[in-house]
Amino acid sequence: MVGGRSAVQEKMNPDICRAAQGREKVMATWKCSECGATSEGRCRPKTCKNCGADKEKIVKAES
Ligand SMILES: [Zn+2]
Repeated sequence: MVGGRSAVQEKMNPDICRAAQGREKVMATWKCSECGATSEGRCRPKTCKNCGADKEKIVKAES
């Protein structure tokens, strides 16, 4: 279990970008847990651009 509170919020608003809510203003690195590809952006990519994995597989990478 990591970040219980934010995890719950993501479940409640799965398609709402947190940046749009003003909670996160910086760029983040997103990593696909399937193939390891990374991309940068404020929002979690809907799918992995490399392998097409579902967004559930894409996690925020620690930088
Ligand atoms: Zn991937």
